[in-house]
Amino acid sequence: MLEIRFHGRGGQGAVTSAELLANAALIDGKYFQAFPSFGPERRGAPVTSFCRISDFPIHLRTSIYSPDIVIVLDPSLLNAVNVTDGLKEDGILIINSQKWPEHFAHNQKIDTIVTVDATAIALQVLGQPITNTILLGALIRAAAPVKLSSITAALKKRFDQRNADLNTQAMQKAYHETKVLHLHDCTTEEKNLFGEAFAAVELGKPSQPELQSQWTDLEPGLVINSPGNSKTYFTGSWRSFYPLLTKERCIKCGICWILCPDAAYTQDQEGFYPVDLNYCKGCGICAQECPTGAITMLQEKEEEV
Ligand code: SF4
Ligand code: SF4
Repeated sequence: MLEIRFHGRGGQGAVTSAELLANAALIDGKYFQAFPSFGPERRGAPVTSFCRISDFPIHLRTSIYSPDIVIVLDPSLLNAVNVTDGLKEDGILIINSQKWPEHFAHNQKIDTIVTVDATAIALQVLGQPITNTILLGALIRAAAPVKLSSITAALKKRFDQRNADLNTQAMQKAYHETKVLHLHDCTTEEKNLFGEAFAAVELGKPSQPELQSQWTDLEPGLVINSPGNSKTYFTGSWRSFYPLLTKERCIKCGICWILCPDAAYTQDQEGFYPVDLNYCKGCGICAQECPTGAITMLQEKEEEV
């Protein structure tokens, strides 16, 4: 049995990924399960989904605690969630990243690290940063749990013709552009070099500014124990895109300030509305609603997330 865990953010399609994979397993004549686990149900919040695939009936009814494969749909999650938690030593870690797998290899005890720049492919082929089907291309390349043709058939069942074609095109592009590093093929000297040659991040150790909390620090039952305490939560760690203001176009109407769901805007002494990126989760509502087009959403650089 193969157990796969997806890490994404609300709106990125982690749940759909697991369902598409399960559908492909069905087409291949295998047994399967697919199910999600939500934290706060809002766009941008970390979401986990799971898929089991087996040649035999599956009797387990638990979450997946020791996955064979972990797929990370958003590189900003590497600093927010312990994505390698429980990943088996012969496991595969697949990351949506512009970087080579070696960048993530320092101190890793897993077998295979895979990267693909899924966001770039998504923007190029789909016109929006939804990376779920693209990561499935990388999964097929790294582990082939189902046939590529079966995923294509599952896409046709799920989407209309145009979107099925676009997603198939994006998935096939990812299949060819995926970079795979097998750590068991590397010597100790080579493994040591990874840490020196690349500014490697240590996976599994979330970093966050001091004195700020994350949604995982909320009390059970989401008890609000003091007024205005949302200021202590670092919702900016959820962000893949950030807003950039072009002051020359701003007419100081305050619509961005009114509509931002995270109160990330304040008014300065000149009457402009600067954004505090500690609280911006990158939903893009301000850019969508600004009447003069003064706000542009830009993709975060990986080094900054
Ligand atoms: S909505 Fe646009 S024009 Fe209005 S204050 Fe915000 S940035 Fe300026
Ligand atoms: S993208 Fe704009 S509306 Fe959304 S959280 Fe950030 S500042 Fe607020």
